[in-house]
Amino acid sequence: MERHLEYMKRRLREEERKKEGIMSGIHPSPYVKEVLHTDHRLIDDKKVKNFPQDIQDELFIITTEECSELSKECMKYLRWGMDKKRRQNLISELGDVKCMIDLMVEFGVISEQELEDSTITKRNKLKKWSKLFNEPK
Ligand SMILES: [Mg+2]
Repeated sequence: MERHLEYMKRRLREEERKKEGIMSGIHPSPYVKEVLHTDHRLIDDKKVKNFPQDIQDELFIITTEECSELSKECMKYLRWGMDKKRRQNLISELGDVKCMIDLMVEFGVISEQELEDSTITKRNKLKKWSKLFNEPK
């Protein structure tokens, strides 16, 4: 099965070729077209390096892919329970997502402070709306 990143790269190449008039049969959805060609730059150029748009897109594409893979491993645990292999897969996918979060900060999409504030906000919500912080009975 084609991985999401490969799919997005292929669509980008097809779009570029189509633009050049080499190809005419493939019509990407308006959504893909918008994603690939909108200058949705979130990076504050004053603070960080100016990364090309395709690099920024790749950051978001891989982050999406890794979040999906982590979701899959969480669902496997819920469905089948934990064993050595699933634990290793979970560790791997958690690391992948953490790496992408770190890269979001390194690329200046969000700041370290914004990430920390958001983490605290989520913890506070969980204290109110989940049982995660309850004393064990
Ligand atoms: Mg992964």
